[in-house]
Amino acid sequence: MSAQFDAEEQRAILAQVHAGQPPTCPRDAAPMTTRSIGGGSFGLGYARRREWLICPVCKRSLIFDRKRGTRT
Ligand SMILES: [Zn+2]
Repeated sequence: MSAQFDAEEQRAILAQVHAGQPPTCPRDAAPMTTRSIGGGSFGLGYARRREWLICPVCKRSLIFDRKRGTRT
């Protein structure tokens, strides 16, 4: 079974990320682990960076695309 956050929980997590706060799990309030996926070795990695948020307690995870420095 792969546990996932429901839509409302995902929104709560992303709201924290977008507010520049370290995300915490809405279920157990544990600080979530952030991992960057790919991007590093590719020149294109800057425009679109994918991040993987994992709760170490309930093991739920969430993948999202973070746009950085795309302002022209
Ligand atoms: Zn959790």
